[in-house]
Order: sequence, then C-alpha cells, then structure tokens
Amino acid sequence: MKELHYDVAVIGGGAAGVAAAISAARNGARTVIVESSSVFGGDLLSGLPIDGCRTTGGEWIVGGVAKELFEACRELNGYVGSIYDRRNICIVMINPRIMSFVIIRKLAEYKVKLLPYSQVVGVDYDDGILKSVEIKNKLQDIRLSADVFIDCSGDGDVCVLCGVPYEMGDSEGLLQPMTMVFQLKNIEPMKLLQFILDHPENCGLAENPNSKKSAKELAQELYDLGYPKAFFSGNGPLMKRAIESGELHSCSMLAFNPNSTDRTVVTVNTTRLVSRDCMTAESLGDSIIALSEQVENAYRFIVKHIPGCQNAVLDGIAPRLGIRESRRIIGEYYLTGQEVADGVKRTDGIAKGGHEIDIHGDKLNHIRATIRNAGSYDIPLGCLIPKGTRNLFLAGRCISADRVAHSSARVMGTCMATGQAVGTAAAICSKEGISTRDISIEQLRRTLKEQGAILEGTN
Ligand SMILES: Cc1cc2nc3c(=O)[nH]c(=O)nc-3n(C[C@H](O)[C@H](O)[C@H](O)COP(=O)(O)OP(=O)(O)OC[C@H]3O[C@@H](n4cnc5c(N)ncnc54)[C@H](O)[C@@H]3O)c2cc1C
Repeated sequence: MKELHYDVAVIGGGAAGVAAAISAARNGARTVIVESSSVFGGDLLSGLPIDGCRTTGGEWIVGGVAKELFEACRELNGYVGSIYDRRNICIVMINPRIMSFVIIRKLAEYKVKLLPYSQVVGVDYDDGILKSVEIKNKLQDIRLSADVFIDCSGDGDVCVLCGVPYEMGDSEGLLQPMTMVFQLKNIEPMKLLQFILDHPENCGLAENPNSKKSAKELAQELYDLGYPKAFFSGNGPLMKRAIESGELHSCSMLAFNPNSTDRTVVTVNTTRLVSRDCMTAESLGDSIIALSEQVENAYRFIVKHIPGCQNAVLDGIAPRLGIRESRRIIGEYYLTGQEVADGVKRTDGIAKGGHEIDIHGDKLNHIRATIRNAGSYDIPLGCLIPKGTRNLFLAGRCISADRVAHSSARVMGTCMATGQAVGTAAAICSKEGISTRDISIEQLRRTLKEQGAILEGTN
C-alpha cells in the first residue's frame, strides 16, 4: 500500500471540496483533494444556477473563492450574470464548460494535489482522531494520512466510516427527488420571453412577499433583461395539461437557466424520481435509465409547446445524476429550520446562507419559503465539526442541520462558503498543531474576511 501524508486532505471534489481545497492551500497547507470520479466541481459543472450567493433581497452573502471563480469565468467569457429570477431567488449563471476549466486552473495555481478516480473506503479512526483514510483506485491502494481531514463527499462518507451519527430523509426516510439535468442549445430568448409575457399564468413569478409587483410586471422585467430564464410551474395550465395527459412526467417545475453569454444555451431542471435509495449502484443505475426517458419526453414537450424552442437541440445531460439529499451528519451544533427561516445572526458565524427553504417533493409537491426579511442566516463552525471528532471537518450538503435547514443550506453558494470556512480553519489547525475544537473563531473570521468572505453587515 502506498503511503501519503499531507497537511490537509479534502475528500470529495464538489462545490464544497473545491472551495475547501483552494482555501486550505491558499493559507499555506500542503493540500490534497481526493475525488472518486474524474470531475472536479460537482454541480458547478451541471449548468444549474448557483444559488445562495445572494439573498432574495439581492445582497451578496458569499464572496471569497466563489467570487474568484466567477471572475475567472468572466475573463474567459463564461460569466453569464447574476439575475433576480422574479420569482424568489437571485441566481448566478455561468458557462459550466468554462467553469470546469477554471476550477482545474485554480487548483493548479494553489498547488493542490489532485487524486481523481480515488474512492475513500476505510478509515483508521480512534478516540476522535482520524489518522488516515484508505483509498482504492484502479492500480493502487493508498493510505493517506493528514493533520486535518475535511469530508466534502456530499454523503458524509468519511464521517460515517468514523462512526459519527447521521440522519437521512423525512420521518419515513423519504428523500428529495433525484434529477437528470440536461442542456438545450439554439434557444431564441426573446420569443421565449414574449411567451412568458403573454402567459405569465404558466410561470412561477411574484412569489417574493417583499415585492409588490404583479406577475405581468415581473414578466415584463424579465423580458427587458433578455435572458432565457423561465420557471414554468407544474400548477400552471401549460404543464398541468401535459402532466394530466401523460405527455409529461409529474413535476412541480420546468426551469430554464441561461448558460451562455450569447443567451442561446439553457440548462433544464425538470425530471424527477423519488426514492429512498440514492446510494446503491443498482438503484442508481435504474434511476439513470428512468430519468433519461423523462429527459426525452421533456425535450419533445419543450420543442412542441414552448415558443422560442422550436429549433432547440438537445445538447447533452449533466456529467452526473443529481442527488439532492442523502445523509445529514450530526455535528457539534445542529442548525434548525427555525433558525434558517428566522434569519438568525450570530457573532460566531463563519458562513452565510440565504437560499429559501426548498424541499422538492413527489409529484407536484414542493415546499418553498423565503428567509425572514428576504435576508440571510449565519452558520457556526459547530455545524462543520462532526460530533466527537478532533481533526475532522465537514462542508457542503451534508452539514449538521435538520431537514428544513438542509433544504436551504444544500445549495452551491452556501456549500462553497462552508468549504472556504473549513479549508481556512484546517490550514490554521495544521499550522498551529491544534484540534478543530481549539481554533480561535475570532482569528478564523478575521482571516476569512481578509480573503473576501462575507460574514456580516447584510440583512
Ligand atoms: C437536481 C439538482 C438540482 C439542484 N439545483 C440547484 C440549484 O439550482 N442551485 C444550487 O445552488 N444548488 C442546486 N442543487 C444543490 C447543489 O447542487 C448540491 O447540494 C451541491 O452541489 C452539493 O455540493 P457538495 O460539494 O456538498 O457535494 P457533491 O457535489 O455531491 O460533491 C461530493 C463529491 O465527493 C465525491 N465523493 C463522494 N464519496 C466519495 C468517497 N467516498 N471518496 C472520494 N470521493 C467521494 C463525489 O464524486 C462528488 O464529486 C441541486 C442539486 C440537484 C441534485
């Protein structure tokens, strides 16, 4: 078995893992990122909108690594823009192909060692200390030791291998649906937007309780912006008819998200498969087949019924199956849905969330609620310290939170913010030779702010 040692080891190369690795390395730690696929960036490469960077009210609440990646995309003409969707969310849109390139360049710039095709399958863990993880890949078994580990595996694999408790799903174990996201090119944005203007009743608009404008006025604003941004609602006449006739699968939404600066490429988020099992290979294989059938039906529906899409070409599916929800690891602090809904601020916050409460259900069910005052809430470091551990952090969608809080904190902007927080914290712990519990929150917050993180001063 090959032996490797780093100051900081990040497991998982999604939105959280990339931000964690960049931040650890920037703060002087020799850093490695271990990823079971060959792709670094996770859903940042899916074409989905990056939520949680701005509040519903429009304030930026995530800066730092996220903003640097957006700026690097912009330099390569891959930053589409930050748009208020006239529903309830301020999104950031990028070209995912450019983002995939930008992420690799950033990891390389900070000299992060990449271990692709490498799956963590075991741990040497005792009395709160994770000494090493065991990695399997094609040709090698690796024992990787580190001063500090960060679990960014999305499913909290490392924490679970260490025996940290977790929760999953609702009281009956039901999870948010899985989705296969797909891309369309050759969209004619102004025809699409004219259709929304003529038929706002088909769309989710005017859901922000702080906005006094009508759906029609907001459709006009979307038209004036000119981005192919649309949110067709499952309860609107267009989708409802198609769902009832069996032309379309049952789903609460069909969302178009712009992915190119020429405004002709969109990512579509609509397919849905509810399951209790999002981790076994057999179940995932079946899900891929079932969702690909939905992609084809949705594509046919869009071309036939949505103006501006008559010449749309199916331009591929996202690099991986979309899993919204799996384990929530129990940490030293447990964030509740009430704190999220109330927009609770804390003097020890190390990241902010601001995405709405957003629980996709089966069929047309979808729970959505704005954060108080269309603002943000603070996340303390305790949510990122797995219970009972002393040299392990976690970040991303598996942070310590109840299901309602998770439905907000799972979005990519917040994942990058928690990733940056623990990457920075891990570098400090490694440098000072201290446990994750002994870090000075004041020093961590100061360092994060110096490096662009937004921790206070917002609604
Ligand atoms: C269909 C769908 C739509 C969504 N829509 C939006 C949206 O519009 N806006 C938004 O902001 N967010 C959205 N989200 C949520 C968001 O995309 C994810 O919650 C977020 O990207 C999770 O990031 P992460 O880094 O925590 O985890 P992941 O992206 O899951 O990354 C974890 C990484 O770890 C790797 N890994 C896992 N286990 C191991 C192991 N044992 N060893 C090594 N590597 C491992 C995986 O391969 C993966 O690359 C959506 C999610 C889905 C599925």
